[in-house]
Amino acid sequence: MSKYIIKKIIPVDNNLSLKDCQKILFSNDVALGILDENRDISAYVLSEHIDRALRFDIENLPIRIISTECKNYNPHLEENFREDYFVAKDSKDVDYVVITLKEQEVFVNLKAHYKKNLCEKSKKAIEFCSEAADKINLPIYLIGGAVRDIILEKDTCDIDITVTDSAINFANYLKKTYPDICAIKDCYEDFNTAKVVFDIEGELVPIDIASTRLEGYAFPASLPVVKETGCDLKEDIIRRDFTINSMAMSLNTKVFGNLIDYLGGFDDLRHKTIKILHPMSFIDDPTRIIRALKFSIRFDSKLDNFTQNLQDECLKSRIFDDLGGERIKSEFKQTFNLNSAEAYDRFLTEDIYRLVSSKIDKKSHNIPQGKTIVEITDKHINHIKNPDLRWLIYLGCMFADLDGDDVSLAIKKLNLNSLETKILISGNTILKNKDRLLEMQTMFEVYEFFECHFTESILMALAVTKDETIKSYIEKYLNELQFETINTTGRTLIEKGFQPGPEFGYILRDILKENEESFLAQISQANYVD
Ligand code: ATP
Repeated sequence: MSKYIIKKIIPVDNNLSLKDCQKILFSNDVALGILDENRDISAYVLSEHIDRALRFDIENLPIRIISTECKNYNPHLEENFREDYFVAKDSKDVDYVVITLKEQEVFVNLKAHYKKNLCEKSKKAIEFCSEAADKINLPIYLIGGAVRDIILEKDTCDIDITVTDSAINFANYLKKTYPDICAIKDCYEDFNTAKVVFDIEGELVPIDIASTRLEGYAFPASLPVVKETGCDLKEDIIRRDFTINSMAMSLNTKVFGNLIDYLGGFDDLRHKTIKILHPMSFIDDPTRIIRALKFSIRFDSKLDNFTQNLQDECLKSRIFDDLGGERIKSEFKQTFNLNSAEAYDRFLTEDIYRLVSSKIDKKSHNIPQGKTIVEITDKHINHIKNPDLRWLIYLGCMFADLDGDDVSLAIKKLNLNSLETKILISGNTILKNKDRLLEMQTMFEVYEFFECHFTESILMALAVTKDETIKSYIEKYLNELQFETINTTGRTLIEKGFQPGPEFGYILRDILKENEESFLAQISQANYVD
């Protein structure tokens, strides 16, 4: 049985500022009803949401930025009570909102899924954890992405466990109980988490153990601040990002495999829906905007209306412009390493790019489409030495039009390391040298020009440039020149008795320069540029 909260509504315009709304919403017993263009109440806001929002410096933003969509009660529809929230009128024609607090309705046991999708050694390590927790009567759960992946029948690598007590104490207990096979790798006092490693028949199985915790955010995209650890599992669940990532699976022997799903994650996973848990979610942590994109691409899912509307409102308000930061970078990396044209196109069309640089002009003709980048990276996949750096090709393409200062600012905000920065700048340099490239007389010059650039930067330039001659030079360099020079000339040197060593490169360069004619003769086609 579900429980309901019923609150009378004070109607307000959706443009009213948060500050003004706070003055109107004087009591916890009432809610604000947000009026749409037709003067219908289509969303509501609770005082607790306004109080949370006003902790950030956003008091002049419109109330709709934290509103939760709701339907109007329709006496002819039986489905009313299946909606999470709806607005109705009482006998005196006063509006009120009904908020449904869902209880877990379906009983699901995941043991069969778990057995099928987890490798034997991970299962063995989890068994040790369950056994130890049982001995001390400690509730223990598998949580987050691992539960989601088990339901989806995908292989799970990261094992995240949570206990409703101190994770560090439990890690010490595991070590004491299984001294020969369990070691503590790391402990983080601030979050009360620990990483343990089990040696299962010679293979090391890492397990992350966390204490259930209640969190808050000091400012958007900051690392969460821990308010309490060892709290109720429900509190730990509601600090998470999306319903599909907010499920737990009991690991204690008697209830092993039971799914704990307070927020409807199981249904959302089945219906391919990405849904945030509360209207303050993106303001608390804007990195969730990129995470939503990542999961929607990875699981071929859609953001529900509520989530999409709040994302749009937050981005439109500009509060996240140029936010950057290590966590945004990390999510950007994971999302773009999926090598998805859709992720790139949606990053631009849905204005998510504003988190990285508000100066990007998504309508610019110089910014290539996702499809072009994917085709190019797929075609030259064998030339990319480190696939983990692919995301930089996408980032560089978005920056194609930015001036140097804006690129530098974005690099600084994203905290790019020196290699990442060099790759981006190098791509930009190729594009800026268009005239020089077009003046080149010989393929050797082309070789010499590209030789000092990174493959990722060259692919970035290939995706951006519209010039057919430059495209053909790049293709020729990637497919032929870069190998021919080294192979042919290097082989010749070895045949002549030179030993490969530090001097080898210098000799090669001199020979290449001196024997440009013969070098060119060895390249199969088109020796000279027309
Ligand atoms: P992946 O398969 O990409 O690793 P994951 O869901 O395991 O997916 P992690 O980044 O490892 O992702 O996070 C583990 C869990 O921590 C998530 O499932 C989610 O419950 C929670 N989490 C991670 N990032 C956030 C966030 N920004 N806000 C709230 N909860 C988060």
